[in-house]
Formats: sequence, structure tokens, C-alpha cells
Amino acid sequence: QKFVYDFTEGNKDLKGLLGGKGANLAEMTNLGLPVPPGFTITSEACKVYLATGTEPAALRDEVSAHLDALESAMGKKLGQADDPLLVSVRSGAKFSMPGMMDTVLNIGLSDKSVAGLAKQSGDERFAWDSYRRLIQMFGKTVLGVDGDHFEEALEDAKRAKKAATDIDLDAADLKKLVKQFKKIVTRDAGRDFPQDPREQMDLAIRSVFESWNTDRAKLYRRQERIPGDLGTAVNICSMVFGNLGPDSGTGVAFTRDPASGHQGVYGDYLQNAQGEDVVAGIRNTVPLADLETIDKKSYDRLMQIMEILETHYRDLCDIEFTIERGELWMLQTRVGKRTAGAAFRIATQLVDQGLIDEAEALQRVNGAQLAQLMFPRFDDGAKAELLGRGIAASPGAAVGKAVFDSYTAVKWSRSGERVILIRRETNPDDLDGMLAAEGILTSRGGKTSHAAVVARGMGKTCVCGAEELEVDTKRRRMTVGKTVIEEGDLVSVDGSTGKVYLGEVPVVPSPVVEYFEGRMHAGADDADELVEAVHRMMAYADRRRRLRVRANADNAEDALRARRFGAQGIGLCRTEHMFLGERRAMVERLILADTDDERDQALKTLLPLQKKDFVELFEAMDGLPVTVRLLDPPLHEFLPDITELSVRVALAESREDHNENDLRLLQAVHKLHEQNPMLGLRGVRLGLVIPGLFAMQVRAIAEAAAERKHAKGDPRAEIMIPLVGTVQELEIVRDEAEQVIAEVRKATGIDLRLSLGTMIELPRAALTAGQIAEAAEFFSFGTNDLTQTVWGFSRDDVEASFFTAYLEKGIFGVSPFETIDMDGVGALVRSACEAGRKTRPDLKLGICGEHGGDPESVHFFHQVGLDYVSCSPFRIPVARLEAGRAAA
Ligand code: PEP
Ligand code: MG
Repeated sequence: QKFVYDFTEGNKDLKGLLGGKGANLAEMTNLGLPVPPGFTITSEACKVYLATGTEPAALRDEVSAHLDALESAMGKKLGQADDPLLVSVRSGAKFSMPGMMDTVLNIGLSDKSVAGLAKQSGDERFAWDSYRRLIQMFGKTVLGVDGDHFEEALEDAKRAKKAATDIDLDAADLKKLVKQFKKIVTRDAGRDFPQDPREQMDLAIRSVFESWNTDRAKLYRRQERIPGDLGTAVNICSMVFGNLGPDSGTGVAFTRDPASGHQGVYGDYLQNAQGEDVVAGIRNTVPLADLETIDKKSYDRLMQIMEILETHYRDLCDIEFTIERGELWMLQTRVGKRTAGAAFRIATQLVDQGLIDEAEALQRVNGAQLAQLMFPRFDDGAKAELLGRGIAASPGAAVGKAVFDSYTAVKWSRSGERVILIRRETNPDDLDGMLAAEGILTSRGGKTSHAAVVARGMGKTCVCGAEELEVDTKRRRMTVGKTVIEEGDLVSVDGSTGKVYLGEVPVVPSPVVEYFEGRMHAGADDADELVEAVHRMMAYADRRRRLRVRANADNAEDALRARRFGAQGIGLCRTEHMFLGERRAMVERLILADTDDERDQALKTLLPLQKKDFVELFEAMDGLPVTVRLLDPPLHEFLPDITELSVRVALAESREDHNENDLRLLQAVHKLHEQNPMLGLRGVRLGLVIPGLFAMQVRAIAEAAAERKHAKGDPRAEIMIPLVGTVQELEIVRDEAEQVIAEVRKATGIDLRLSLGTMIELPRAALTAGQIAEAAEFFSFGTNDLTQTVWGFSRDDVEASFFTAYLEKGIFGVSPFETIDMDGVGALVRSACEAGRKTRPDLKLGICGEHGGDPESVHFFHQVGLDYVSCSPFRIPVARLEAGRAAA
């Protein structure tokens, strides 16, 4: 096994082994770009170190061989007294973890070689400043000395000199400072600062290995879902100096604007400075364009290199560079991060430039980015006072009055106030408050904290871990610096950026939603560039995808919106949603009916209402399939709350005020009460137990379809039976339904074609799918209930109770109710598809659980070979895009 690669040996595809930085340095080296020579120690070496506590045996010799080669290439030795080679030792993992791990610059300087550097550079101040920086960085990161001690000594030196910045310190001052720094090291590290350059290098390498497992690095990885066992590579690179005078400097550049995607000159430059100075913001940078006047030759060369990189990587690249006395050096490049909007624009721009094709363009964006672009957002132009910034945990723009406990959140929202629930962190007791709030803000916790997980599940805006906020729940207020926010003060929370503002920031609708709604058009003169790009990417996706996309919708309004968003039908109409509000009483009567007569009466009043619902729905979706699911939830959901009713009855009794109705109702509620309603009397079981219920619904569907046909419409109704576990259940319901349909056909004289199928949402249904397909023309996977029953997780409870712990322990990286569990639930879906199609080759297959709108899950359903996914209207563009990406 080889642990060290020269920059000339690697390439950009070796990120796993050489880390992102090392792989790209190698790629640039091989492109003939000016990269200071160096080599990379692999992440495999780091893994060995982390597992065993020592470097792999072969590493030292390999490093020596590469160092020898580097020294002969540079014509000087590491730390050589009269003309030292200096190197940087930098971490670089497969996935970028900005600022999380260690870097040490200027390795090779010592009491002896500092003089050599002074002589060679002709700049004594520079040499001592470099040495001062080495001791400081090395002391802090490698030897674990508290960095404040160095900072304080530096401040003292500046104060003594009445110097404004460290530039004002001269060589003599810095010499004194070096002495002091070395004393601090000896005192706090229990050893002297190492004078042997190789020892410096070896210790720095080890410290980079160890920095993989610092608490903050671990936390960052958990938040960003980066695996913990990858390890980091280490890059040893010969130093070039941007701080050798006005003809030197350092900068960052982008090959195009990471916010808009526009081509042009984007970046910052800092004259006479080293990389950390830019990051630390010590002095003000100038726009990169100014480099043209400062150093035309380097500027022209940089433009040329950016062009080479963009064409080579066929994507936006970001770059770090240094100019040493008029000579340009590339220190880093990578495919750059960008905003969601820029991702869409850049993808289409690159297609126009002929750099990538449509299929590749689809790989450059994703559904999560599209979803982000569809949230309303705060008006960019509005003036707003920034209070602080936390982790963007759940997107959206929320405005409301600050409240600091759940009880107040619920109380205020009931009286019509919009509230933002602010807590240090949330726990399951806060659930009601979270539901009532427009948005949630916490000062502790990361992307997998309770607040973040639950808010995402609810689709609520959430910012968490905003550390600057001091939340004082007892006194019902929070302080940020000098600002105090009392209960009732307005705050605005941006879940897409993590920013928190004081007061009400105006919210504007997303132009992308305006486009999908048909209120903004691509191709129009004033069309937004972003809308234009989204329009084109959607076309690329639609041309490629094999999955059809339907909507979960149960009224005409949702259906019409879904259609505008590109739905190709309704995959799930939950008829229970049609029995809410005033109609609840009618269902109550149906449930409580003592005689056949009473029941028939109740069904008769429901029939015309149901029929009207369906007529509207079939009209809205004319020409497209509409899957209507017969009643599913446990009946008690239609009855009054058992506790409230008991109290009412008890109170009446105590007043000797007998209410026959309430008493009867209470008896019925008791009778229907279930310990596990989700596993109780629901779905097909209801249809089998309550005579006439499913028949009434089927009749309403059939009559509505007949009416639409009569009106020259094209209704395409599909009847779906929920919670089937065995084919026998389905057969009984099917026979009854066919009879009803035949009656309607006869009565109306209209040739009705209604297909009948089932949900597959119980493990037994999936396992006996071959038999069930005998009686079903289509399957629709109910992955919500299937996940619930396969895992034995109550879908209503677990996300708020123990999922945070599960996520933190890494048992799963994401809730199985959000992204389909491919190994378990997914395996059942796959085998049920195969068994079903074996019985009935033309069996239609779809999915209507929440997973239908989840990007990763959509890819899985594409692979399994479903015909369609069905999701909420708002997720339809996301599902279309992901279905296209899956097929591209
Ligand atoms: C499901 O179980 O996945 C489903 C779509 O049905 P519901 O969510 O209504 O139970
Ligand atoms: Mg279900």
C-alpha cells in the first residue's frame, strides 16, 4: 500500500484517497498550471493512525523519499540554514469541512533558518514575522497552547509601540515577540518549540490526523451527514509568500458568480498578505478586478487559468491563489458551492456554452434546491435589522411575535396572533407550541436537534443553534448583545439562510411558484432569469423521466393547482377529508345508527354530498386518472373526544340535567375506543363491518362519473381499497362494488369503466401481493403505513419522541418516514411489485405515501419500476425533476 502521492501522481477523481484539496492540486499540476510542488499523504494513512494510535510503519520512509524529491526540485533543503525550503502542512478531507481541521504554515523556520530567510528575501521583517506566525500556529494547533496567550502578547507589543496593526511592528519588535512566544510554548506545552524542521513536519502531520476527531469536527460531520470513518489526507506543499511586499498578495476567485451564475470577474484580492489575513478580515480586500491595474501580467494569467479550469471541470470553480513578487501560484481549486438559484442558472448556461449536455445538467441540480426556491422569502430589498444567525434547519420565511413557552404560543395563536416560538432547545413537551407557531427559533442544537427534526417533519420554518441569542424563558425574553427582545416583540426568521431579524421583514412569494402557478411566464420579456432556467430544467426532466407524477389531493382547488404544477392525475384522494366540518355530524349519525333504517337515512344524506365532491374533482382532473380511496381512518376520529365528553356528561349529571343524546354518544365512544386505533377498526375493515358504507361511496363515484360522461367529460375514476391484508377482504369489497357499478350503469345507461385496486400498506399485503393482484387492477404503495408496520414505529409519535436520539446515534441518517428505508420497507415494495406483475403483467403500480415527494425515494421508485409517484401538490415539481434526474 502506497501512502504518499506526489502532486504529479494524483488526479481529481482520487478525492476519497487524497482528499478534495490534494486531488485537485494534483489535477492542476497535471494540467500544467503553476502549483507549488508538493505531495499528499493519503487518508488511508490517517485511518491507520486513528485506529492504532501510530503512523503506519512505512510512512516515515515514504515521506522522506518524497521530501528528498521535493528538495532536489526546489534546490534547497527543508529548514536549510542559509536558504530554507519552507512547507505548509494542510488537512484536506474528501468532503470540504471548512475551518474544522488543522493547517500549519511556514514549517522549516527555526532560530537558524530565520536568518537565512531574511537574507534570501532581503526582508528581515518578513522573515521574523513568518517565524512568529509559525510558533503561534504550531503552538496552538500542534502543541495545544491556548491561542489567547499569543494574541495577548501580540496586543501588548502593539500597545507598547502604539501600533494600529501588526504591519506597524518592525523586525526588532517581531524578534522580541518570537522570544516571548517561545517562552509561552515552553511554559504551557511543557517542551521547547522544536528546532528540528523534520520534527516540526512530523508533529504537524500527526496533529492534522488527530484534528479529524476533534469535537467540533465530529459535530460538523454529524450535521452535514459526512461519514465519521473517512479520515483526512495531509498536503505538504512548498510555501509561496504573498507577504513579500506590494508586488505580492493573495486572493480568492470564482470562475463565475456563485450567487447569480453570471460570468465575469468575481473575487477578492489582498495585497502584501498571506491567506489567513484574508480569512481573518484583518485588512480590507479589494475587488479582484482591481488586480488588473495592480499587476496586469498576473491578472491576465489568472483569467487564462480560470478559463482553463472552467473548461476542464465544466463547472463553476473557486480558486485560492498567491502572487509572490509578480509570480502567480495556484494554491487550491474546487468545484464551487453555489446557491440553489445559481445551480439552476449555471446548469443551463453550461448547456448553452456546449460544455455539458441536458442529462448532465440535470445532475447539477436537485429537488432539495428546487424545493428551497419554492418557499416564500424575505424581500431582499427590505431594510432589516439582523439579530443573529443560526443553522438553517427548516426552510421558509416566518414572521411573528416572540413567545418563550408552548402554552403562550398556543394561547396567542388561538386568538389569531402569529407567533415565533423561541426556546433554548425544544423537547416533546413543546410540540403543541411548535404546531401553533409560524416558526421555531432555538439557541442550542444542530441540524439533528429535536427542534430541527420535528420542524422539518411539520414543514415549519426553523432556525436552531443561534448561539448569540441569550434565551431567558423564566423572564420571557432574549438578549442579543445590547438588544432585548420581550415577549410580544416581532421577529422574523429565515429558515433558508439561518438569519434572524428584529421586527417584521416583508415576505414576497417565490418567483418559481409564480411561474408554476402560471402567473409568470418563461420567455416573456421581463421573465426572471431564474424562472427561465427552472423552466428549461423542468423540460429536460420531463423529456427523460419514465415515472409519471400524480398528486395527493381531495378537492378541486388542490387538484387544479396540482394540474398547473404538472400533475398527471390524482394518486390519492383521501375521502375522509370530505367528512370534516359540518359533515362530521352526519358520520356520527351513521356510526350511532341503531337500526337499518337510521343507517340508510344517514347514508342517503351523505350520498349526494359525496357525489358532488367527486363531480368537481373529476371535472378538475378531466382526462386524467383520479384514484379515490374509500374511507380509511378509525371511526372514533369522527366522534367527540372521550375526555371532553365524559366531563360534559358528568357535569350534566351533577346538575341532574339528563341528556339522553350525550349519554348514548358516550357509550358509543367508549365502545369504539381503541388502545391502538392505527391497528384497529379502519380501512377495509370498516367497509366490511358497517353495511352500506363502501357501497354508498362507490355509488357516489359511479354516479359522479356517469354525470361527467353525460356532460361530455372524460372522467377516469379508479377506486382504491385501503389497509388490505388478504385477498379475501378485497374480493368481498370488489364484488359489492361491481354490483353497485352495474346498477348505476343500468340506471344511467352510461358505459362506465372504473378500475378497482388496492393499497399495499401492510406487510402481509406485500408478502401476498401475488394473490392480491388476482383481485386488484392496480397497487398503490402506502409507504406511511407500511413504514409504520414494518418498523413497528407509531407514525404519529416516534419522530417527536426518540428519533432525535436515533439520529444522533447514527442508527439512521434520516427518518424512514421521510426517505424510504430501502433495505427494509423498500425490499418489500420491490418484491411485491415483482409478485404482482407476475400474476397480472399489466398491473399498474404507484406509491402515494409521503415518500412520493422525497428526492432520494423517487430515485428508488424509478429503479423499482413503478409507473407513478403521487405526492402533495407542492412537491410535484420536485418529484418531476427527480424522476427526470433518475432517468438521465
Ligand atoms: C400511506 O399509508 O402511505 C397512505 C398514503 O395512507 P395514509 O397516509 O392516509 O394512511
Ligand atoms: Mg395508509
